[in-house]
Amino acid sequence: MRKLLAILFGAGLALQVQAQSEGIHLEYMNQSVKPGDDFYEYAIGNWRKMNPVPPSESRWGSFNEVNENNKKVLKEIMKECTAKSYPMGSSKQKIGDYYRSGMDSTLNNRLRDSPLRRYYAEINGIKTRQQMVTLLGKFMSWGSRPLYGFYIDQDQKISSKLIPYFSQGGLTLPDRDYYLKNDADKVKIREAYTKYISNMFMLMDTVTKKMLFKGKRYGNNVSVSGEKGRKLADQAAADIIALETKLAEGSMDKVSRRDPYKVYNKMTLADFSAITKNINWAEQTALYNLPPTDSVIVGQPDYFKKLDELISSEPIEVWKTYLTWRLLNSYAGYLSDDFSEESFNFSGKVLSGTKVRKPRWERVMMNTDGSLGELVGQIYVEMAFRPEAKKRMLELVNNLQETFRERINKNDWMSAETKKAALEKLGTFMVKIGYPDKWDDFSKLEIRKQSYVQNVISTGKWRMMDMMEKYKKGVDRTEWMMSPQTVNAYYNPTNNEIVFPAGILQPPFFYFNADDAVNYGAIGGVIGHEMTHGFDDEGRKYDAKGNLKEWWTKEDAERFDKKAEKIVEQFNNYMVLDTIPVNGKLTLGENLADLGGVAIAYAAFKKTEQGKKNEKIDGLTADQRFFISWANCWKNNSTNQAVKMLISTDPHAPANLRGFAPLTHHDAFYEAFNIKPSDKQFREPTERITIW
Ligand SMILES: [Zn+2]
Repeated sequence: MRKLLAILFGAGLALQVQAQSEGIHLEYMNQSVKPGDDFYEYAIGNWRKMNPVPPSESRWGSFNEVNENNKKVLKEIMKECTAKSYPMGSSKQKIGDYYRSGMDSTLNNRLRDSPLRRYYAEINGIKTRQQMVTLLGKFMSWGSRPLYGFYIDQDQKISSKLIPYFSQGGLTLPDRDYYLKNDADKVKIREAYTKYISNMFMLMDTVTKKMLFKGKRYGNNVSVSGEKGRKLADQAAADIIALETKLAEGSMDKVSRRDPYKVYNKMTLADFSAITKNINWAEQTALYNLPPTDSVIVGQPDYFKKLDELISSEPIEVWKTYLTWRLLNSYAGYLSDDFSEESFNFSGKVLSGTKVRKPRWERVMMNTDGSLGELVGQIYVEMAFRPEAKKRMLELVNNLQETFRERINKNDWMSAETKKAALEKLGTFMVKIGYPDKWDDFSKLEIRKQSYVQNVISTGKWRMMDMMEKYKKGVDRTEWMMSPQTVNAYYNPTNNEIVFPAGILQPPFFYFNADDAVNYGAIGGVIGHEMTHGFDDEGRKYDAKGNLKEWWTKEDAERFDKKAEKIVEQFNNYMVLDTIPVNGKLTLGENLADLGGVAIAYAAFKKTEQGKKNEKIDGLTADQRFFISWANCWKNNSTNQAVKMLISTDPHAPANLRGFAPLTHHDAFYEAFNIKPSDKQFREPTERITIW
């Protein structure tokens, strides 16, 4: 939700381990293919053949391999935290009880969805539109966000201040396109979605269903089981999808959402209330204890207008059905097996193409890790992080930063004026490596021996409360937005910071003993990628202090856009699964970050001893090793469903393109592999783009 530019989307949660030896794996390569024809296949083709997507995954690649290492550590942590009773309130008590509550299948299967009954009853109590709006606010205080997004972050234009953000929401499917497009795939998904909703309502007990379906719209039904019950459940599903489709029509598309100016609509709560006559935002936000505030940022005013229209026009019974659905669906994974399996059948199987569910212990462990991030992270770094890694990383970051500086100085398209400001921005990057200096405070979070879903809800409530407390304290630039065990990295424009959690400082990204070519091609490229985010089409709009502000001359901005447009075209021309084009505009920021990341990392590598000598190791020159190491980071196989889903939601291009596409702009790449104009991936020198 917050604006983070990460190396990869939604990494993080899949976990199994292969021992990685240091450096380049010749056995992963497919040397029967010419590197100039298909570099990705040449560099890692055999790995792809040897590593099909496991049935419990939708994707399998380098990030998963690292996660496998992490899983071993997490398993140890869960074991330790559940080995005995720890004092109430201690970290190990919280982790242990959270994990245990998820593992208690007997209790959770007996309770089914009954822990949600008090919330169903609240929904059932709605008689007027005003009550429905009030309940919406209450839901937010429970950490649930059925109809709109809310968070507190730095003001994009005054980064020293925190401000509340409101954004569009309300959709269950991954994006508005899933409701509005009529290609065969989307139609099939909507049919499966209808069936999924209907099945979930069928799983509810008779009392709940009677309560839900007692209104006129559903024929004042007394019988809610058997065929009659199915009819009602089908009608509920149709109502929900019709309503979500209207919300989708009012939603901003994902390419527009990348424009920081379009989503920056600052207003007072009174102005905001004028857009939505049904919602008084001072009253609404008081329900979740937002302190009085002079202004807020509304990401998509049109969405809120649409929502307001629908609050007036949709029957109250439809709203009740919808809210019940949103509640049930968001917690389904933590309920009894029947509910959680049904949920997996749709979001795992249909949407992502995952064939089987992960074992319970793994699902619960991943959720415990995700919910209690830094609490688990503190133990993780003690067990798994080598402080030498931080020292080595700082050296690499400094080398890349210095190289970036030289490259800005000597580039031929930027004016001296803009260069000066760019150098200031580069020079003031805040660098975070490994784990936070100051840990997040979880002391007010209560985790107890109770049902799994209750612990999940408690954590959501606590997060909301914690966010309000942080709001009162003001900006804290030491905060991290990823836990240390996360296998990912990010650039945060409002802090002008690059962040590398301990999780990514492992092979195949980071090695203690590999040669420089390997490290510069891998983690060097990742560092360069994050640095370039500060200067991609979106990041470049923020200045050295992290404020959204025009600091480029008009001519420089135009020259930049012209170069960037070439990258949009390049990616628009790539197809996945033979027929689906990549969205060059959606993936532009990431593609620019890859392009710059490789260029800067390569130039920094050429300053090392190995880079200068270019001697062979295992039959490969240093330059060849550098480029193969980059491709090695993007080892990946995906199910077709996952590919389709990511094409419509992910601002990153598919891994098989990231593994070679940015390289085609570097002369050194052509020289390293003797790539000729007759080779398939050859790009004319005049078509090669260098920005940074
Ligand atoms: Zn990125």
